[in-house]
Amino acid sequence: MKPPHSDKKYEQAGLRINISKLSDGIHEYEFKVEPRQLDLDKRFNKPLNVNARLDKATNKIFLTSDLETDADVECDRCLNPFLHHLQTSYNVLYTYEDRGITVNDSDDVQVISIDKVYLDLAEDVRQYLLLAMPIKLVCKDECAGLCPTCGKNLNDIKCNCKTEEDR
Ligand SMILES: [Zn+2]
Ligand SMILES: [Zn+2]
Repeated sequence: MKPPHSDKKYEQAGLRINISKLSDGIHEYEFKVEPRQLDLDKRFNKPLNVNARLDKATNKIFLTSDLETDADVECDRCLNPFLHHLQTSYNVLYTYEDRGITVNDSDDVQVISIDKVYLDLAEDVRQYLLLAMPIKLVCKDECAGLCPTCGKNLNDIKCNCKTEEDR
């Protein structure tokens, strides 16, 4: 197999890819996005890296998108703020209207019109990032949390309250 044709581009404005004159084959794009452009909540305040790879054929475009950023979060046990590294990826199969494409159940499929000029990744990126955010976040596995009695951060200090075992 010969290596795929690749033209890495740095797209600065938003998360749009012009597909109007895209040749068949592999195309790669790198985006650096400010999270406010994506209307994300305040936990997302660091730049977001998006690496998108398009595999274009006559009747479809397959997107693989890798997302990476740091989120500003709070530990569920000790309430200290910390940065949580987020990394996720997703796929979308864009098919041109009525081309009778067979799809795998696992693919997110979006039908696009034949004269579509831009693929806009913003909304998918936003949703997949939010999905990738764990519900429970702990600053470190061994985080001791807060004392339930005096509220002190037990990572910093050993308080004199009776522990669970003493009761
Ligand atoms: Zn903690
Ligand atoms: Zn205590």
